[in-house]
Amino acid sequence: MKNSFFGAGGPRILTFALMSLAMTVISAPTALAQAKISPDRTLIKLGPIPAAAQFDSTGHLDVDAATRAYLDTVPADKRAASNKYFEGGYWIMLWSALYTVVIALLLLFTGVSKRMRDLAVRLTRYKWIQAWIYFAEFILTSTILSLPWNIYVGFYREHVYNQSHQPFAGWLREQMIGPLVILVFGAIAFATVYTVIRRLLDTWHIWGSVLVVTFQMIAIMIAPVYIAPLFNTYTPLSDPEVTIPVLKMAHANGIKVDKLYEVNASKQTTQISANVSGLFDTTRINVNDNLLHQASIEEIEDGLGHEMGHYVLNHIMKMLCQFALLILIGFCLLRVWLQGMQERWGDKWGTTGAADPAMFPAVVLAYTVMMLFLTPVLNNITRTMECEADMYGLNAAREPDGRAQVALKLGQYRKLEPGPIEEFLFYDHPSGYARIHAAMQWKSENSHTTTGY
Ligand SMILES: [Zn+2]
Repeated sequence: MKNSFFGAGGPRILTFALMSLAMTVISAPTALAQAKISPDRTLIKLGPIPAAAQFDSTGHLDVDAATRAYLDTVPADKRAASNKYFEGGYWIMLWSALYTVVIALLLLFTGVSKRMRDLAVRLTRYKWIQAWIYFAEFILTSTILSLPWNIYVGFYREHVYNQSHQPFAGWLREQMIGPLVILVFGAIAFATVYTVIRRLLDTWHIWGSVLVVTFQMIAIMIAPVYIAPLFNTYTPLSDPEVTIPVLKMAHANGIKVDKLYEVNASKQTTQISANVSGLFDTTRINVNDNLLHQASIEEIEDGLGHEMGHYVLNHIMKMLCQFALLILIGFCLLRVWLQGMQERWGDKWGTTGAADPAMFPAVVLAYTVMMLFLTPVLNNITRTMECEADMYGLNAAREPDGRAQVALKLGQYRKLEPGPIEEFLFYDHPSGYARIHAAMQWKSENSHTTTGY
C-alpha cells in the first residue's frame, strides 16, 4: 500500500495480494550495499511567484486570484494533454475491469479452469499443493491473456503521453517479475486461504478475511526487503542540500530517521514522486530521482513534509484497518455470490463450490466488480488522508509556494481542475486546483510568521 504525495497514475488490477505487493514501493537493506556517492546534481531554484500570488502593499493576498495566477502559468496545450491522459484513465479503469471479467468468464465457461484443477489433482493428492499448482497455472494463463491489454495501458499509452521512456525489453522483463513474485508469496496466501475455506465451510468468510488482512500486513512489511529491489535501486540519499533540511524537519516532527532513500524511478517513468511505505521497522521515506531533478528544495521539503504527515498520522495502519472492514464485508458478499454461482453454473463449470480452486475465476470476477463500484469509496478514504497529510506538510515545511509549484508539476499526469463530481469519484489525491487553493489560503493567513514563531 502506498501513501504518497503524488499517487500512482496507472490502473488498479487484480487481487489484494497483487495490489499490496505492486503498490508497495519501499527501500531495502540490500540497497545499502549498493550505496553510491550522491550523483552530480544541483537542485533547481523555485520558479517565479506570480504577481497575484504575492502580498500587496497592504499585506493582503487574494486567494482566488493567486490560485488562478498559478494555474494560468501552465500552457493550454500542456493542460489539454494531461487532461486527456488523466480522463483516459477513467475509461481504462472501466475497460480493465471488463477485460478481467471477460478473462474470468472465459476460464470458467471454456472449462479451462476445471482442467487446470484436474491437472493439479492428477499431479498430487495433497490438497494444499493442488491449490498451489492451480494458482501457478492461473497466474501463467491470466498473465498471458492480459498481456495485450497491459502492453497497451502500461507501455504504449505511457509512451504516447510521454510519461515513460523505458525500452520495451526492460518493461517486459519487469512484467515477468510481478507474476513470479506472486507465484512465490501469493501462492502461500492462496493455498492457505483455500485450506481455511475447505476446513471451515461455515465461517470461512470471517477467517478468510482475517487471513487476507494478515497477509496484506506481511506483504507490506517484507516488500522493502524482498520485492522493491527487484524493480529499482534504493540508495541512501547523500545530497546534503536535501538531507540536512529534510532530516531537520523530520526530527522536528518526532520522526527518528537518519537517512532518506533515493529510488531510480526514472528508469520506468518521467513522473515525480515520493512516498512513505512499509510498516513498523521497515517504514521508510523515499524520494524518486525525477523529483530531485525537477524540483527545488522548497518543493522537495513540502513534498516530504506531506510524507511525514502520513507517517506521524499513522496512515498506513489506519488504511489497513479501514480496508480490513471492507475486506470482511467483501468476503461475506463473496460467500453468498459463490453459493449462487455454484447453484446456477456449477455443473457447467465442473466446480464443486467455494472450496474448489477451479472457482477462483469467479472470485476474481466478484472482486473486480466490487472494486469497480468501491472505487469512489476507496478514493475518498485515500483522499481524506491525503488532505490531512497536505495540511500537515504545509505546517511542517511552511512552503506554500513550493506546494503550489509542485502541484503544477503533478499536473503533468493529473488533470489540474476537475469538476466536483469528477474529483469525488476519481481522485485519490486532492486536485491541483484544491492543493494550490489550500496553499494560498494558508499563505494568506500564516505566511507572516514564516520567519519564526
Ligand atoms: Zn500522500
